[in-house]
Amino acid sequence: MSTLKRTKIIATLGPATNDVETLKSLILAGVNIVRLNFSHGEAEDHAQRARLVRQAAAEVGEQVAILADLQGPKIRIARFKNKKVLLKKGQQFILDADLPGEDGDENQVGIDYKGLPRDVKGGNVLLLDDGRLEFTVNTVEGNKIICTVDIGGELSNNKGINKQGGGLSAEALTEKDKADLKIAVGLGVDYIAISFPRSGQDMEYARSLVEAENSQAGLVAKIERAEALDVLDEIIRASDAVMVARGDLGVEIGDAELPAAQKRIIQRARALDKAVITATQMMESMIHSSIPTRAEVFDVANAIVDGTDAVMLSAETATGEYPLAVVQAVARICRGAEKQNITKVSGHRVECYFHRVDEMIAMSAMYAANHMDIKVIISMTESGHTPLLMSRIRSGIPIYAFSRNEKTLRKVCLYRGIYPMAFPVTDYSAVEINERAIELLKARNIVKVGDKVIITEGDILGVGGNTNVMKIHTVQ
Ligand code: PGA
Ligand code: MN
Repeated sequence: MSTLKRTKIIATLGPATNDVETLKSLILAGVNIVRLNFSHGEAEDHAQRARLVRQAAAEVGEQVAILADLQGPKIRIARFKNKKVLLKKGQQFILDADLPGEDGDENQVGIDYKGLPRDVKGGNVLLLDDGRLEFTVNTVEGNKIICTVDIGGELSNNKGINKQGGGLSAEALTEKDKADLKIAVGLGVDYIAISFPRSGQDMEYARSLVEAENSQAGLVAKIERAEALDVLDEIIRASDAVMVARGDLGVEIGDAELPAAQKRIIQRARALDKAVITATQMMESMIHSSIPTRAEVFDVANAIVDGTDAVMLSAETATGEYPLAVVQAVARICRGAEKQNITKVSGHRVECYFHRVDEMIAMSAMYAANHMDIKVIISMTESGHTPLLMSRIRSGIPIYAFSRNEKTLRKVCLYRGIYPMAFPVTDYSAVEINERAIELLKARNIVKVGDKVIITEGDILGVGGNTNVMKIHTVQ
């Protein structure tokens, strides 16, 4: 068996991945989660992709989770009569909320988000097309934002607008997002990502919508507004996972601030027992190249050293020319980075005092695993919470999440170092269950006679939040 990859890979689906064979090859190469990007495509495209992924996962016998990423209030310009214009440095240009959508030209263009004129004032800097163009606002007259072009260039239909420093008042969930959330729940997705949340309240509101649909989907907060960093802990607490959404965040706070922000977001998420995804431009050059740049290799490896659970690919897999090669490259870099000792050494929260029994058991298991010759950890889990807690502690020891619950098996796909294992816990007596679990691992050549295995479970099997036992078992 080749070395297990601990870091999880998220692949965005798109035209380049629309067939079962491609999906199977991506899963076998190391994709754990697929992302349906609701900024592009119709409901039927997402439904079709979800079906294909489930088929591919079943055919290769792997658990693959589905993440639905809602578009959010991406502020965009409208369209030009001739699709695009060339703007020159120093010229005046007007963003006009009243201009009909298709009527843009060299002097003006409409805006999709009609609230923008109220959110900006003279002196503000607006960044267009992910920061490729830069405008300074001179004045706002009614619904017209009159700007000077500081950095010009080509500007084409529907390009995004960010305000430097943040501060746009658009709601995190648009009407389209609310409709898409229902579609995503209907597809049975495992995670839903909320774009541009400003507060914990935005995430709580999203959760109320998910719960109203009777879904257990986990919620991912995309950290991509400057002001989200001011209330980071609050947003993390209200979410199941966060995403370092480097594309929009980098435009709002400036690229030079990004590396420190990434490290802080990852560190806070792990400390608050939540999962974390690092996203955007990780392998950008591989959209058109069969190999990554050295800088990209270092970027992926550094995110792993920072402690990310998952690295995400966007256009690299959705529309790129080398979807399989890019996943293979990321998987290879993950394995390489995971050999570094720093990815395995943990402080074990020795300074902390614990109040929850399952948390204490998870911490004890990790302490034992990292301080003794332990081959694997088995966590009998109903909800996946104990494996999540375990995976917040750095380690090189594989943690198998044994569960009878399909949703749990997919949810743990996001957690670093956790491997889902379908197992009918409630079919066995308390005496039998450990033997059966070890037989399963023996049959797969994961453990052999003489190996030491840590097992965590609850006295009452099949009940969530109940883990209260840790034992060390020698394989017979
Ligand atoms: P997006 O989010 O790709 O949906 O914009 C990620 C980011 O902004 O980095
Ligand atoms: Mn974004």
